[in-house]
Amino acid sequence: MAEKVAKTVFISADMEGVSSLAASEEVSKGESDYEEFCKLMTGDVNAAVEGALEAGAGRVVVRDAHATARNILPAELHPRAELIRGWTGRPLSMMDGIDEGFDLVLFVGYHSGPGLEGGTLAHAMSGKFHEIHLNDRPASEAYLNALTAGYYKVPVGFISGDDVCCQQAQELIPGIETAVVKYGRGQAVHSLPLEEARQRIREGASRAVKNPDCFKLLGQGNEKFSLSLSYRRMKDAIRAGNYPGARQKNYLVEFSSQDYLEVLTFLHFVS
Ligand SMILES: [Zn+2]
Repeated sequence: MAEKVAKTVFISADMEGVSSLAASEEVSKGESDYEEFCKLMTGDVNAAVEGALEAGAGRVVVRDAHATARNILPAELHPRAELIRGWTGRPLSMMDGIDEGFDLVLFVGYHSGPGLEGGTLAHAMSGKFHEIHLNDRPASEAYLNALTAGYYKVPVGFISGDDVCCQQAQELIPGIETAVVKYGRGQAVHSLPLEEARQRIREGASRAVKNPDCFKLLGQGNEKFSLSLSYRRMKDAIRAGNYPGARQKNYLVEFSSQDYLEVLTFLHFVS
């Protein structure tokens, strides 16, 4: 067992990959199914918080990262977890609140990038995009957000969601701890018993917090970040093409920088 435990932990929590969740009504405020799934989301997040605290973390900050960023139920959240709700308007998006002071990032309730049959409610950042590629690789939210963590020199050590999302994350960060809570089947999901799903989250988060040094930091070195957005609508593509430094051709808009924060700022303005 490693001696160095992650003391300060940042959790970015999305909703599509929450245990047993299957449909878009369940992640949309105002729909009658939604409240029930806020409880389930809070329960999955609590399992990760428990795992982190059990492993020796002293501080856990949870970033609600889905849609309005007001989905987690504060009164039901683990009493030792801090919660960031709502959007500041800054470009860090689903990672807003992270800084160099954190030792480890955990992703809870995540989903895969678009275009994969088993990916439950799979998409990339915004409904405006058909696909996003970064350096010629399909860019899932986990990929973009792990680069944000890497920008602040914080590794990502855990992800929960469906099987496709967890597999994508393993290709990105070898050895990342994963908790598969459900299997995507077209528009259906095959879920684990809820207690077992939560146990997987608790145990995976705990293992990651005990070994924060074994996860690769993404985006290190002098690589250039080239983002390519494939829009669904021409007028959105043309509008985005006006961003300083962006290049647009038909539905495709590209932007490159050696500074990942500049790429995030571009994405923030054109999403
Ligand atoms: Zn979401």
